[in-house]
Amino acid sequence: MQKILNYINGALVEPVSGNYLENYNPAEGKPYSLVPDSDAQDVQHATEAAQRAFGAWSAMPVEKRSAILQKIADLIDRDLEKLALAESTDQGKPVKLAKAVDIPRASANMRFFATAAIHFSSEAHITGQEAINYTTRTPVGVAGCISPWNLPLYLFTWKIAPALAAGCTVVAKPSELTPMTAFLFSKLCLEAGLPPGVLNIVHGLGQKAGQAIIEHPDITAISFTGGTVTGKKIAATAAPMFKKLSLELGGKNPNIIFADCDFENAVSTSIHSSFSNQGEICLCGSRIFVERAIYNRFVEEFVSRTKKLVVGDPQDEQTKVGALVSEAHLKKVLGYIDLAKQEGGTIHTGGKQLKLNGRCADGYFMEPTIITGLSHSCRTNQEEIFGPVVTIMPFDTEEEVLEYANSTTYGLAATIWTENLKRAHRVAANIKSGIIWVNCWLFRDLRTPFGGMKQSGVGREGGFEALKFFTEAKNVCVKL
Ligand code: NDP
Repeated sequence: MQKILNYINGALVEPVSGNYLENYNPAEGKPYSLVPDSDAQDVQHATEAAQRAFGAWSAMPVEKRSAILQKIADLIDRDLEKLALAESTDQGKPVKLAKAVDIPRASANMRFFATAAIHFSSEAHITGQEAINYTTRTPVGVAGCISPWNLPLYLFTWKIAPALAAGCTVVAKPSELTPMTAFLFSKLCLEAGLPPGVLNIVHGLGQKAGQAIIEHPDITAISFTGGTVTGKKIAATAAPMFKKLSLELGGKNPNIIFADCDFENAVSTSIHSSFSNQGEICLCGSRIFVERAIYNRFVEEFVSRTKKLVVGDPQDEQTKVGALVSEAHLKKVLGYIDLAKQEGGTIHTGGKQLKLNGRCADGYFMEPTIITGLSHSCRTNQEEIFGPVVTIMPFDTEEEVLEYANSTTYGLAATIWTENLKRAHRVAANIKSGIIWVNCWLFRDLRTPFGGMKQSGVGREGGFEALKFFTEAKNVCVKL
């Protein structure tokens, strides 16, 4: 079976303990490779390598640093097909989706931050006739970057690209459920000539390798994307150590559809925002609120189109919904279907595991699921499910839907469908979410801040803000 290796000090190495975990292909329900079960010893080696590399990397002319990162982006583009297949095999998503979204966005992350760093500027303030204040920004040192399993290479690069571009060196850990693209990425770094120790990738469990990164005293900034419960644990460790902390966490995003919307666009985009990547995108709209005047029409059309979505082999071109990432996650999502039924919900379509034939006979597939008849305050509508499951609820007034939309502890993203410009701005202003899409979904401009409010995260990053996160500001005040 293929062995994934750690990437430490510019070499692909076995974990010190020699222990490995099985890496599953969720579409087949069986292991297909081995991933290092790294521990604190591996993190120690990675951190020492990152510390040694920091001086030269942070002092390297930014144009040269940028050229290496852009070269990595070029290599990602070159290997699009191979990376998309690997991402799908690890995660269960359709290869077609990985090819269209995950991998191109991974190279876009590298390219964006590589070029943004060249144009990064710091501020100066003239204080009357008395003084000049100028601010310098220097990289924080060794950064720890931890990413989840849902968009493996996309979110891995979203963490490491700004850190590397800002001049930090990095110890990173991808999710142990989806390590393959990060492994292939380490090979691309070698090919692109990234100096040894600048990026170190330690594979393994969150509780072990991840926790060792968070606890390491020489890792001074932590950039984490994952669940809110894990985020709390990480904050509890890192905050008393006074580490810089960026947390991008869970969501329970509202998708608000007013009667005056472009109906066709609202329905077709809502299919994507509900079920893309098996609903395993933190930005998916899992609570759909529809104005009563079009509620029945929307439910009918939405259910009918959802029934036509092809759930199948991720390698099949026709497949729209692939496998869930793991058996444990499938069980968790199915557990929420049981909860929804107990809470009085009506399942319009889906709600069950799906058994396929052939190579996918043991895979973790389930039907896209639509539930109505629930109150906005029940657990099904308050907790993150993170699967192909949406609820639909009617509303009568703008005030009412704002109350529903804002009623969870999360505040990551929201979508609004209306042709009324004033209403669009008014509702956007009153929803407590870090990202609001009006008449679209998942559209991204990397210059904008990204991240959630409330328990969806802290330290919103985006564009130059992400570069700033990995630097420390110093102000120099010169008396005139
Ligand atoms: P987890 O929080 O379970 O894991 C995220 C990462 O943290 C994994 O690499 C995990 O390793 C690691 N980890 C777990 N425990 C610790 C620990 N104690 N110390 C350090 N690292 C640890 O999230 P999932 O992987 O399940 O991802 C899904 C979640 O991510 C959802 O809640 C989703 O909303 C959120 N998310 C948020 C996004 C955002 O931008 N706001 C974007 C995408 C997802 P391991 O896998 O080995 O346990």
